[in-house]
Parts: sequence; C-alpha cells; structure tokens
Amino acid sequence: MVPRAQTFAWGLLHRALPIGKRASKFSKHIVGECVRCATLEDEMHMFFLCHFSKAAWFFSPWFIRTEVIAANHHSTPQIIQALLTSAHPYIKVTSLYTFWSIWKARNDALFGRKFCKPSQVFSIANAIMQDSKLEDMFLTPHEHRCTRSVDQHVVPQRDIFLLAGNAIFCDAA
Ligand SMILES: [Zn+2]
Repeated sequence: MVPRAQTFAWGLLHRALPIGKRASKFSKHIVGECVRCATLEDEMHMFFLCHFSKAAWFFSPWFIRTEVIAANHHSTPQIIQALLTSAHPYIKVTSLYTFWSIWKARNDALFGRKFCKPSQVFSIANAIMQDSKLEDMFLTPHEHRCTRSVDQHVVPQRDIFLLAGNAIFCDAA
C-alpha cells in the first residue's frame, strides 16, 4: 500500500483535501479560486465541473458527462457511488485513480505552472495505478462483501437505470 495514495483516498472520501475553498479559510496566502478558470474551487468544481475535468472525463474510454451526474449527485462520495453502479463498461474501483490524476494535474498547474491536457489524465491515472492498488485502499475485505448493499442504499435503483443508459455517458461505438 502506498502511503500517499492512501492519504489521498482518505481525503477524497472524507472531503478533507486542501481544496482552494477549504484551504483559503486558513490562510490569506492560499488562493481559493481554480487555477484554470478562477471559479471558487470546491471538490465538485475541481473533479467534475471545471472545463478541464469535464473534458478529461469525456475523453476515451469514459465518455462521461459529469455535469449530468452532478445535477443529481451533489458530493464527491455520492458521485463515486453513482459511477461505480452505473454499469459503465470501463468504470471499476480502479478507475478512481482518475481522481488522483486530476488532483495531480491541479497541483502541477497550481504549484509548478505545468498544465497538462485533459486527454492526458487517463494515461497519468494508468501510470499511477501501476504502482499501487487503490482497490485495497478504498475497500476492506468486509466492505468488498457488502458493496452491493451499500450501493443500493446510496443510489436508488431508479437512478441506477438512469445512469446505465446514455444519461451520463455516450456509447463508444
Ligand atoms: Zn476551473
């Protein structure tokens, strides 16, 4: 298990990442706005609603329209649940490396002034995935067994069917 990945996963699921909106409350030297578009940066903006993130999720192989998911699911953990129960052929727990890749792209832009392209997010996520096992970080053995009941509790069956169609992603064919 990679400590940095574990820390990131914990922060992602507990909404504790030092995102601009949150971090800027603690210091006037921390910018609260998105480095790419100057919108106030919260988790929803950074991971799903910034033009960069929307484009990254819409690239192959996902073709996911995050603004559609965000219209019905209003927090990062809710959207993760929705993605995992969407029946999307390319979404599995390891797809969550995408979140780390977007986080890395944000930090590279903010602190290193290095701006990658949305199309690079997927390959960066894959590179990170080579070195760690995110599935083991997110789910304990007990949670692996209970995933289905947890998903059904969080995402109503009606929404699962909505998400399984073209509502949030387009067919790659
Ligand atoms: Zn932005």
